Amino acid sequence: MADHYDVLGVDRNASADDIKRAYRRLARELHPDVNPSADAAERFKLVTHAYDVLSDPQQRQQYDAGPQQGFGGFGGFGDIFETFFGGAAAGARGPRSRRERGQDALLRVEVDLDEVVFGTKRDLEVDTAVLCETCAGSCCAPGTSPVTCDICHGTGSIQRTVRSLLGNVVTSNPCGSCRGYGTIITDPCPTCAGQGRVRARRTIPVDIPAGVDTGLRIQLPGQGEVGQAGGPAGDLYLEIKVRHHDVFSRNGDDLLATLQVHMADAILGKHVTLNSLDGPVDVELKPGTQSGEVITVKDRGITRLRGAGRGDLRIGVHVVTPTKLSRKEEELIKQFAAKRKDDPPQLAHFQQGLFAKLRDRFLNL
Ligand SMILES: [Zn+2]
Ligand SMILES: [Zn+2]
Repeated sequence: MADHYDVLGVDRNASADDIKRAYRRLARELHPDVNPSADAAERFKLVTHAYDVLSDPQQRQQYDAGPQQGFGGFGGFGDIFETFFGGAAAGARGPRSRRERGQDALLRVEVDLDEVVFGTKRDLEVDTAVLCETCAGSCCAPGTSPVTCDICHGTGSIQRTVRSLLGNVVTSNPCGSCRGYGTIITDPCPTCAGQGRVRARRTIPVDIPAGVDTGLRIQLPGQGEVGQAGGPAGDLYLEIKVRHHDVFSRNGDDLLATLQVHMADAILGKHVTLNSLDGPVDVELKPGTQSGEVITVKDRGITRLRGAGRGDLRIGVHVVTPTKLSRKEEELIKQFAAKRKDDPPQLAHFQQGLFAKLRDRFLNL
């Protein structure tokens, strides 16, 4: 497992802001929408996981503290303590429990943009470890129970006295016979092979709130993998991916769209009714509408994930110049041009325009 700090390219004293900045920079480079290579996808996962851990102060503290040394490990605080202070500490520890908290699970969920406008409900099929119903997590065949280990007499550890320069010291190691549990299962449950849990598919109803965006993770506590020996389940995370939409794009809570307007309508103005993601929207093109103008329809964007209200629908106007003219039409346009006496084409003030903003939308992540 790569070091989370190395993955993000920050040092161990990095501030929360440094970590956020590093994540944004890497996400821009590696996000599947931007970089479709498999290698980038793998790195994006690592980067996202590293960010999840390091952006949460409690998880970061745990990570910095390093893995908690369990049985069978080398070194670690417990061993040093016991080496110098003898059996008292070893006795206080006692045998280890078979029950362990299960792991978190991750499920990717794709949603359409129109589902994001108001939120949606899904029945999701989840494949995780669940409690074994035959043994209810005891790991034992029905009618049997674990027997006390006769090597360690149920303590889970073996003490040895070793002579050293400091005198006699007592070392404590996990019992190899029972692996530190203090008991042995002589008749494992046949359904789960003594694991206390089995894999199963189940369907869970899930509310996906309005305003979610690609990369967002929704946490469902206790819906992850059930632990060994029926230990408490980890959490299930839903990672959202919003599918591409051909007509509407998104900038924060605003929806963006392009409206093609014929030249004559742009000149004379027109009332149009458009099909938005949530029904018809009336738009007034005023006479003399320019290409690149943005018409804002208030409160017809995406319902905000946090807080109330909706974003806006922003419609960029694209004036279409006719390409095929009949002889009659050409004559009319020539007459029109002759009447106008407009200035010839000339360079004007530079405009970034709506479409550049569309392209940059990911950078506002
Ligand atoms: Zn079982
Ligand atoms: Zn034992």
